[in-house]
Amino acid sequence: MVQTLEDLDYLESCRMSDNEPITPEQASEDEALRLTLRDYLQSGLKTEVEPRAYTSEQVNEIINRLQSLDETDYRNKLIIAGFTLTPYKTDDDDDVEQACETCMYYLVHRRFCELPELMLPVDDEWSCRLWRI
Ligand code: SF4
Repeated sequence: MVQTLEDLDYLESCRMSDNEPITPEQASEDEALRLTLRDYLQSGLKTEVEPRAYTSEQVNEIINRLQSLDETDYRNKLIIAGFTLTPYKTDDDDDVEQACETCMYYLVHRRFCELPELMLPVDDEWSCRLWRI
C-alpha cells in the first residue's frame, strides 16, 4: 500500500470524533438509510469491488469520481466505492480482513462511515475499497 504524507494528512483531517452524540431522530434516519443501502446490495447491485485502492493514484481516482456525485446518489456511491456486505479478504492469510469495523473512517457507536465523500450509515461487516486501517 503506497501513500504519500499528503495523502495521510488528508485522510487524518477527515476524522471526526466517535463521541459526538446523535439524536434519536438522526439514529432513526441512519437506520432507514442503512436498510435502503443493504437492500440495494442484497438485490444484486454490481459494485466495483476491484481493483482495490492501494496506491495514491487509485485512491485519488475513486475520490474524484465520488466527489462528482450528488450527495444523495447512494447507488453510485456504493458502486464506485465497491461496497460489499461482507469483509473483503485477500489470498494472503496474514492480511487483516477489510471490514468497516477495522477501518479508520468507521464511527463504531454510530455505525457510520465518516469519509467525506461517503458519509453513510454502514455496518461492522460491510466493506469498501477505500478501507484503511
Ligand atoms: S470500509 Fe469503506 S465504507 Fe467502511 S468505514 Fe471504511 S471507507 Fe467507510
